[in-house]
Amino acid sequence: MRVLSGVQPSGALHIGNYLGAIRQFVELQHEHDCYYFLADLHALTTVHDAARLRELVTDLATAFLALGLDPAKASLYRQSDVPEIPELTWYLSTATSMGLLQRCTSFKDKVAQGVVPSHGLFAYPVLMAADILIVRSNLVPVGRDQKQHLEVTRDIAASFHATYGREVFTLPEPLIRDEVAVVPGLDGQKMSKSYGNTIDLFGPEKEIRKRIMSMTTDSTPVEAPKPKEGNALYGLLKLLAPAEERGWVEKAFDEGGTGYGDMKKRLFAYYMASFGEARRRYEELRRNPAEVEAVLAAGLERARAIAVPLLDEVRAAVGIR
Ligand code: ATP
Ligand code: MG
Repeated sequence: MRVLSGVQPSGALHIGNYLGAIRQFVELQHEHDCYYFLADLHALTTVHDAARLRELVTDLATAFLALGLDPAKASLYRQSDVPEIPELTWYLSTATSMGLLQRCTSFKDKVAQGVVPSHGLFAYPVLMAADILIVRSNLVPVGRDQKQHLEVTRDIAASFHATYGREVFTLPEPLIRDEVAVVPGLDGQKMSKSYGNTIDLFGPEKEIRKRIMSMTTDSTPVEAPKPKEGNALYGLLKLLAPAEERGWVEKAFDEGGTGYGDMKKRLFAYYMASFGEARRRYEELRRNPAEVEAVLAAGLERARAIAVPLLDEVRAAVGIR
């Protein structure tokens, strides 16, 4: 199977990105032909600062490697280094109806969060379809927030086939892990780089501790049982607790006697146990940017080996060249 997925360099990487996406990416590299990319063209829908974007791209590539991506097994590349992607986006957009894009909820969610409703943000699913179709991927591991965009990709590919009368694309399937499909943010909404509600994977330990300790909780007294439904602290504890601590988490909520402050301290301890090693590797790799660049160059070559002939077929199908 060919696997493809991407992450936007739109802000600091968070545990939702890891649990919902990158952890699967790393597991899949052992069994499949995997392509992962840094979605910098997508990030331009929210990041409008050139120096910051460059820095975020480097940080994201470094993070992929620190979290276990093996460049001998999987290809990692920058989206903007593949000129076939924006060209394909245009061909696809001529076979994409406005209605299809108007039904996408992620656009509405982002606008509701204060992101500028640009044409780029609106057309985001078409660019994403090009990312996926350009390498003929079969499987796309994502969090649940991207499920609709995957369906849109299939619709766009089918509509292109109907419009131009040629079957050039492979229709991809999403791969979504139910238990981590939507990791809640500190405010209980979906954890998102652009929502400011994240627990970051990297960055100063002190700040991460502070963010966890200042999470908003309700006023249930220490001795009383705590509500679990819709409780972001519970959701996060359940996701990060090691197997032998899960019973403690359930008991703390069901039986009472443990205050939210103590629960937050545990959450921070679980976080450090889960990511301490990756955080050390990240700091090491940051001192060696040339190594990271070499990985991207090799990944790019492998991606373009598929993208270039595919785009030739598409051009032939539409009558360009
Ligand atoms: P942005 O706010 O800029 O959209 P994001 O945090 O949503 O950033 P993306 O780069 O859009 O991150 O998504 C990268 C991958 O992480 C996708 O596969 C997405 O489904 C997954 N993902 C993002 N947030 C979560 C979350 N809270 N829970 C599970 N998976 C998530
Ligand atoms: Mg997102």
